Amino acid sequence: MRLWMPDRVFFEPSAQAYPMGQKILEFCENHKIPILETTSHNQIRGIPGENEKAKYANAKKTLVVGTKKSLKLDVCKPSAHYQFSLMTNCPGHCEYCYLFTTQGKKPYVRVYVNLQDIFAAIDKYSGERLPETTSFEAASTGDPLAVEHITGGLKETIEHFGTLAHAKLRVVTKFANVEPVLNAEHHGHTRFRFSINTEHVINRFEHNTDSLQKRLEAAQKIARAGYEIGFLVAPIILHEDWEEAYKHLIDQVRAYIPREVEGAITFELIQHRFTGNAKKIILERYPNTKLDMDENKRTLKYGKYGRMKYVYPKSEVSEMKAYISDLITASFPDGRIQYFT
Ligand code: SF4
Repeated sequence: MRLWMPDRVFFEPSAQAYPMGQKILEFCENHKIPILETTSHNQIRGIPGENEKAKYANAKKTLVVGTKKSLKLDVCKPSAHYQFSLMTNCPGHCEYCYLFTTQGKKPYVRVYVNLQDIFAAIDKYSGERLPETTSFEAASTGDPLAVEHITGGLKETIEHFGTLAHAKLRVVTKFANVEPVLNAEHHGHTRFRFSINTEHVINRFEHNTDSLQKRLEAAQKIARAGYEIGFLVAPIILHEDWEEAYKHLIDQVRAYIPREVEGAITFELIQHRFTGNAKKIILERYPNTKLDMDENKRTLKYGKYGRMKYVYPKSEVSEMKAYISDLITASFPDGRIQYFT
């Protein structure tokens, strides 16, 4: 897939004063991308679109460059101690995107240029837990690798963590644009995970992301660059022939991953879930979606902040968990399944 290019870029007033703001400005000028100003991302006007579907598509081609104001970090269970944001949203068009309920009304891609403020917050939170090591997730509000060719922010972040003895960075992506970070001085403090799924799921639901093959090639490069690596199998969907398809998926991972790194590989398993609100948004944006969101086939579970979400019934959860865990253990006897949720 070609690297993402926005159709328009909005700058918040202070953003151009930062080195990353300057870098993005230069990128826009070199690529002749229209540059617009906005007093705040909340004031953005002029993203075209006659209906929700068109507005959404155009917002996904819009980049907003600003500063991260709130530096209070949220906890990030079960993947890390805390999460922080280098960006919000992402250029991908996954029909089930986990960001729909939190960023539903503002799907444009935002990046934050005040990296030193973000790093200071990371240092503060990790300092509070010394001598314990603290882990930080960088991809809870977006996919920073998808815009790395424009910002360079992920590489700087990786190198900042490279200097911290008691902090670990975790990144997850559905993109393959790893070249900019291959020579980063990570010092083994970053775990790169690739979100993977069956061809059935990727082809039907994960539009504008890289193919499975590209993600696995990228994972191979990242492993060879000395990073710790992992895979998120997510969202697990019980589609027709799912057993065969997930077996094929794990076989493909096995084929791409060098034997010498397999002991350090982690797997995170996440079943598909949706909320009533997310279903409404998905049906507006993808009226012909084939995503199965039949509440009658699911069971209700309390999520974060008391939100109710629909998950697979217990018997199906047990079956998928056991089946996929067995596949992983058979192919990666030294790998580690971190959680199933
Ligand atoms: S890649 Fe991740 S963040 Fe981007 S649209 Fe897909 S699920 Fe959402």
